Amino acid sequence: MQYCKMLKSLLICWNFLIISCDVYGENENTIEQQQQQRKRYNSDRHYHRRKRHPAIQEMNRMVVSRPEHLPKIDYGDSHPFDLYQNAQENTVLEILEDNSIDQNNNQERNLEDSRRNPENYYPLRIEYDFSNLHSRGTPEDEIRIKAIKEEALPYIASYYNSILSVIRNRGKIPISNDECFGYLDIPSKVSTKGVYGMDLYVFVAGFQSVAETQLCGDDFGVLAAAAPCGLDQFDRPITGFINFCLDEIPVKNGQISHENMNDLESIAIHEFAHVLGINSDSWKFFRHPITGIALTPRPFKKSVFTCVAGKKFRDIAIPSCKVLSSGVASNGMPYFEIVTPTVTQVARNQFGCQTLTGARLENQPTNPFDCFGTHWDERYFYAETLSAYYAPEADYFSALTLALLEDSGWYMANFRHAEVSPFGHGAGCDFVEKDCIEKTNIHRSKIGGVVPDYARGFFCAEPMTVKKNNEHEFIYQCDPSHTHKAGCDLVNRGEAHRLPKEGRYFGHKDYGTLIMQNADYCPIAAIDSRDCTNIHNSNRWGE
Ligand SMILES: [Zn+2]
Repeated sequence: MQYCKMLKSLLICWNFLIISCDVYGENENTIEQQQQQRKRYNSDRHYHRRKRHPAIQEMNRMVVSRPEHLPKIDYGDSHPFDLYQNAQENTVLEILEDNSIDQNNNQERNLEDSRRNPENYYPLRIEYDFSNLHSRGTPEDEIRIKAIKEEALPYIASYYNSILSVIRNRGKIPISNDECFGYLDIPSKVSTKGVYGMDLYVFVAGFQSVAETQLCGDDFGVLAAAAPCGLDQFDRPITGFINFCLDEIPVKNGQISHENMNDLESIAIHEFAHVLGINSDSWKFFRHPITGIALTPRPFKKSVFTCVAGKKFRDIAIPSCKVLSSGVASNGMPYFEIVTPTVTQVARNQFGCQTLTGARLENQPTNPFDCFGTHWDERYFYAETLSAYYAPEADYFSALTLALLEDSGWYMANFRHAEVSPFGHGAGCDFVEKDCIEKTNIHRSKIGGVVPDYARGFFCAEPMTVKKNNEHEFIYQCDPSHTHKAGCDLVNRGEAHRLPKEGRYFGHKDYGTLIMQNADYCPIAAIDSRDCTNIHNSNRWGE
């Protein structure tokens, strides 16, 4: 074993290692002992869980279309949705006046006339309200709050300002006394006068809990959570809420490290997308980007519905099939997918599969109240910023998320800022439609499974072994970002702790993922990820 350990640092011995080392040995440790190890992996920067807290999901559920009695946002007389609506009304009048006019031709003409004109759109302006972000009197909190106020959030505002445009608000954003469902203290100055010169107003807080529900401090270290609050007359979020779990922002020697600052900003970018309308309860509000017609007919029909995690809920408004569709994955798990035109085309281009019907949402939601899925499915979009889990080395704000924001009907996206996510890029239809692991007999693979050609470089099948002291032993291999090396998240879980049926890809049924189950239980090289560009890591693999 010592011999093998020594050789593990030498890349040149890769094949030899797999054949000769005792990497397939039965582990003698229980899954509980291995879970202790799992905690250690979870506590580092990798797999920082972006959990949708139930209280936040509850907020999403409470978001409603703008009530008629509230003042509308002033878009002047040039909002394309208004123009289209007026054109339609004029067409009806013309038809009533002259029966000889072909109604269909006129509808097409009007559609053409009101096609999206970039000149009507201006960069999204965001303002923050920090009146609910309080220090608990410690020097660490002062540092954290300063970092949130002066670095992270200004960066987020300029980031979204550069990638999204909206029809400009020419008046004010009215703010009510109980804006954001009564959870916040609203400054009287804001609620009496409203906010001028902005398109989105976001309340920032550092609560441990709201309404007696814990928001922070669970095992997975939720760093932030966010939700939209109020909508304009076209359902675009105009107010929102973002909460930071201050204790999850490490402060050492009076400062936040560059790495932790990056994490804070990356996670805030992700959370902000939820405010902008990327969440399970916002799909029903999506509108046609040109006409502004609600894609899901109003008023919403609510019914008892079995959500993706299998639980039935009452009063679920089901989004239109123009937005959302359902299916069953190759491993038998049900899923929902976004089927709007731009999202579908971007997903097809990402995988190089022009027959795809949409982009799949997470079907193992991080929140039991998340009905359709709020994130991109980790199995297909592991490296996307809007997947549920965060790994700093695999965090790409891709064209897929921009497409989703654009297909909401509320934003025009600047696709020049899209990053190309390497995960599954050009991997073909099989990558999406077939299993991540090809089941084999034990003559081909001792654990009964190999990575098929279409999944090579994205998934892995080299299990870790567990030493008597509970330390895992593994071979470093290229991770899905292709910039790091990491161990494969695959262990012998033991018969008593087998994964559910849909997660058993190997002939040897005891083998499965240890840490991350959210990629449909597909093993990914992400354990103890090491940056290949850092010279201090070179002794890990002898390059
Ligand atoms: Zn999220």
